[in-house]
Amino acid sequence: MALNLSYNQYWFLIKTANEGLFYKNSILRKLGYQLAQKKRPIVRLKFATYPDFEKDFPGRDAIYDASSQTVLLKKEENIFSDRIILHEFWHVVQCELAGIKMTDKNEAHMEFEVMVLCDVIQTMITGNVVTSIKTYTYMSLVSRLVNLSGHIDPGVESQVLADYNEVYENWARENSFSEPDNYNPGALFCFLSIF
Ligand SMILES: [Zn+2]
Repeated sequence: MALNLSYNQYWFLIKTANEGLFYKNSILRKLGYQLAQKKRPIVRLKFATYPDFEKDFPGRDAIYDASSQTVLLKKEENIFSDRIILHEFWHVVQCELAGIKMTDKNEAHMEFEVMVLCDVIQTMITGNVVTSIKTYTYMSLVSRLVNLSGHIDPGVESQVLADYNEVYENWARENSFSEPDNYNPGALFCFLSIF
């Protein structure tokens, strides 16, 4: 059972979200606004800690439980980590805006998509290219996505998707994720359509 955050913790979160991470990047603000506007199905995010977190999700700092629209945190302090909140926010976008269902089959690709989008946003915020994978193709994909702002047309979009799929396929092969892949990167589409 998850323990909901106290009013003070929740208030602090909203303040952090308004003046912290979401203040630093307009794409996050726009996506947050789209989530807030969503009526069908309505999005009511909750944040909670969870006593058996380490046992149930070893090695993780937080997870998004789409069935209860709750971001479960290992520790209360994790709510103040831009890295953790940014990561979980993209899962929220995947599940609530892009309508993707988290399954065992698509979990690896969902994590890959979140990794790319986190690197893109952190690059935008810091001004230095942030890349979780140190290959030229990955770095150029992140740079490409960062530099898209305002210049998106169907030709550019399909090229970006082709690059994305190529980098994903290499990554999946190297990590032996061999499941049949019918995954559509819905959060990436949300990102591309926000400009
Ligand atoms: Zn994740």
